[in-house]
Amino acid sequence: MRYDVVIIGGGLSALVCGTRLQRSGKSVLLVSSGQNAMHFSSGSFGFLGRLPDGSAPDDLIDSVINLPEVHPYRKIGPERLRTYAGQTIGFFESAGILLHGDPTHNSYRMTASGICKPAWLAMEDVSLFAPGETPSGGKALVVTLKGFTDFNVPFISSAFTKMGYACRCVEVEMEEIARLRKNPTEMRSVNIARVLEGQQALDRFISGVRGKLKDEDTVVLPQVFGLKDTSPLAAIRSRLPAHVHFVGTMIPSVPGIRSQMCLKSAFQAAGGTFLPGDTAVRAGFDSTGRVSSVYTANLGNTPLEAGEFILASGGLWGKGLEASYDSVKEPLFSLDVDSPRERKEWYDSDFFRRQAFTGFGVVTDESLRALKGGKTVSNLRVIGAECGGANPLEEGSGAGIAIMSAFMAADSILGRI
Ligand SMILES: Cc1cc2nc3c(=O)[nH]c(=O)nc-3n(C[C@H](O)[C@H](O)[C@H](O)COP(=O)(O)OP(=O)(O)OC[C@H]3O[C@@H](n4cnc5c(N)ncnc54)[C@H](O)[C@@H]3O)c2cc1C
Repeated sequence: MRYDVVIIGGGLSALVCGTRLQRSGKSVLLVSSGQNAMHFSSGSFGFLGRLPDGSAPDDLIDSVINLPEVHPYRKIGPERLRTYAGQTIGFFESAGILLHGDPTHNSYRMTASGICKPAWLAMEDVSLFAPGETPSGGKALVVTLKGFTDFNVPFISSAFTKMGYACRCVEVEMEEIARLRKNPTEMRSVNIARVLEGQQALDRFISGVRGKLKDEDTVVLPQVFGLKDTSPLAAIRSRLPAHVHFVGTMIPSVPGIRSQMCLKSAFQAAGGTFLPGDTAVRAGFDSTGRVSSVYTANLGNTPLEAGEFILASGGLWGKGLEASYDSVKEPLFSLDVDSPRERKEWYDSDFFRRQAFTGFGVVTDESLRALKGGKTVSNLRVIGAECGGANPLEEGSGAGIAIMSAFMAADSILGRI
């Protein structure tokens, strides 16, 4: 099976890159083992939450100069980053995902624990707050569903209280939801979202909230609406006589899963081939050191051939890297990995401090091509969390790196840079 481009991975970076390539006329195959970080994401994208000295960035693109030279953002460069950041909302809109936020400045989102964290862009059902938003003096009704423990009402209402709201917390009781409680593991955001996708259930929920509203001007709800599309969000907003904030639940993430499905559909609608539930297990190289083929667990000895390959396998978390007791390796192509030799330097025993292992990644050249034995593999680019030189968790840069590197890899293959 031959394609113009084979991408290993099915997460944010793979889907963005694959869609951009496929829409520009390349034939792309994407092979993906399974779940990816979007299923567990906050529903908001981080570009750069904090600088290496711990301070908050102002203009996100100008701030990139403070990052180490090996950082993917430094390789992409400020000019391209500004262009790509400006294209991001439009790209996602074309895939049916409405993002809001300022492409060059951070806002704040509220986590499931009621903590405000920097966020770049966010999906429709993730409320963003302006930096240092002044207390509103409003009244908020914080609503959860009876029996749903993955929405931490005391923490969320305390966070809104700190923002100047007078909060009242209530539960809406629904028979359809109560049925999920027969098995405690089923009482999760995604299963609730499935139930509330039914028109009658949604109507009952909205009526339930309306019945509890007194003089509140704001309603705070968990992100458990709209697994397939965002129509339940629109219905809630139009039918509740108050401003509605949607706030995160514990994982899994309803907005993350919905957006992943939208991106996958956009890739397939453009004509891309998605090979789900399969794992790339070995690769072939030609005599010049270029990748010639990839073999998967399900296809056995049938090679996936292409002129260009992209590794978007998610780093340690996505199994794009493997750690044994004393080494870290990239299992598919045996690429060079950016990680300290000594195991004791992989982590800090203080859990809350910077952890080096969350920044392990493949070493790349200036154009994000992989290095193997110190030499550039000219037709293999590395994108997203697999890419070395960054520490997305520490920096709050995960989705930004995934999207920016995906755009750059696509443009480079398309001969635009
Ligand atoms: C739990 C979690 C939550 C996060 N939440 C956020 C957030 O809210 N906001 C934010 O900005 N960033 C977040 N991040 C950071 C995240 O890294 C990026 O946002 C981004 O989604 C990473 O995308 P990716 O495509 O690089 O990797 P991933 O999403 O990890 O995808 C990698 C994919 O590659 C597949 N794969 C790996 N090896 C193979 C193989 N050999 N063959 C086939 N497939 C393979 C995996 O199965 C997986 O589907 C989060 C990260 C994690 C781990």
